[in-house]
Amino acid sequence: MADEDERETLILFPLPFQGHMSPMIQLARILHSRGFAISIFHATLNSPRHSNYPQFTFRPLSDGLSPEESAAADPAQIIRLVNASCAEPFRRGLAAEMARKRVKCIITDANWYFTQAVAEAAEVRRVVMRTSSVCSFLAFAALSDLAAKGYLTHTNSNSNSRRMRDDPVEELPPLKVKDIPFMDQLCNNPQDAYQNIAKMMAATKKASAIIFNTSGDLEDPDLAKLRRLYFPVPTFVIGPFHKCFSAASTSFHAHDEASVPWLDGQAPESVLYVSFGSVVEMDVRELEEVARGLACSGQPFLWAIRPGLVRGCDWVEMLPEGFLEETSDRGRIIEWAPQQEVLRHPSIGGFWTHCGWNSTLESICEGVPMICSPFFGDQLVNSRYVSHVWRVGIRLETGFERGEITTEIRRLMVEEEGKEMRQRSSCLKKKIESSLSDGGSSYKGLNSLVDFISPMLDT
Ligand code: UDP
Repeated sequence: MADEDERETLILFPLPFQGHMSPMIQLARILHSRGFAISIFHATLNSPRHSNYPQFTFRPLSDGLSPEESAAADPAQIIRLVNASCAEPFRRGLAAEMARKRVKCIITDANWYFTQAVAEAAEVRRVVMRTSSVCSFLAFAALSDLAAKGYLTHTNSNSNSRRMRDDPVEELPPLKVKDIPFMDQLCNNPQDAYQNIAKMMAATKKASAIIFNTSGDLEDPDLAKLRRLYFPVPTFVIGPFHKCFSAASTSFHAHDEASVPWLDGQAPESVLYVSFGSVVEMDVRELEEVARGLACSGQPFLWAIRPGLVRGCDWVEMLPEGFLEETSDRGRIIEWAPQQEVLRHPSIGGFWTHCGWNSTLESICEGVPMICSPFFGDQLVNSRYVSHVWRVGIRLETGFERGEITTEIRRLMVEEEGKEMRQRSSCLKKKIESSLSDGGSSYKGLNSLVDFISPMLDT
């Protein structure tokens, strides 16, 4: 017979992408530390390494994707495919787990929209875990209204109602039209992405609660708006998770261990760390502009170029001729950084990021100001909040253009304005730290979440 610990179990179900897997594993560690037994259901794609987390029970679900299919498909297509292919394995896995253990609640990534119907049929509660910001979720929730009002037609050059990219979105200040979380750059068929979003929103509306990996110090006003306009269910703001528990061992790539020793040899706050995360792709022209901007800025830099970042390239073979020689005394290129350690390093003065939510939070939590180059989706919203709400960074407004890049790197790293952004970021860092300690808002949020979940397990 199963022991007590085995019978009261929370099932967590992460989406198989880096920026979703890490926070879900962090959440699992947080909830485990509060006494819950944890089973992690996961797709075969990007499986977490079970041996790193002996405290959890892992239940792999066959997602039906071959390695070739996973490599060829874009993220939106993968989300659509796995929501279909994992439905039956998940339903069977849940039934089996319920026969073995006491399961009353599942916590699944918001993008696993099929799980709402499965949870209802099995009479368990589903709590949604949203791995990105509240502000971007608000923008996603508004997307269909914005489309109906014609905002999305700016991508269609023949449209008479075309809005200018720099016009304000009155419904979502301070967003501009170009900050609406368009998905067109993410996928071959944008309809995949927009349908996924619509299904995610519909399923989240029926969920028992939503957990956000954010801080009230950053997002309380937007949370109030989100609840008032779209999701009147309980919401729990309990982040940033990575400040409670690391998930470094969920990294899909090997960290470059020589980065930190290299940073040790650089002057305080002199290095610009450059990384665009685990998913986005850029073209060779954009790579060249980044390189030229870095070279012209004269600043030291640590640049993580993930294999696969540049379309059609293996790695750095398309960097402009002479770039490596020209910058060898002050620049270092790596494949994948130990990012949290890098951001904590005293030599880091700025972070040029795509503004994925994990990167944005990790930067704010170390008091590092940002240069923002969003590509699609939530990154567009996060960037505008970094530059115009929290005022801890600069958004590159014209995309990748070497002149603007050079100017903005110097503005952030050398000029007075950059120092002010660093001060504001340090201030936020301190507030966030205190929100996680005894009596702070995230600390209380976690207690409320535990109180919310516990009675479900007792009934
Ligand atoms: N990351 C890392 N090394 C790198 C680049 C990224 O460890 O060289 C980690 C980073 O710390 C973050 C995650 O990968 O936790 C990226 O998540 P994010 O939400 O920022 O962006 P995504 O990859 O989902 O676009």
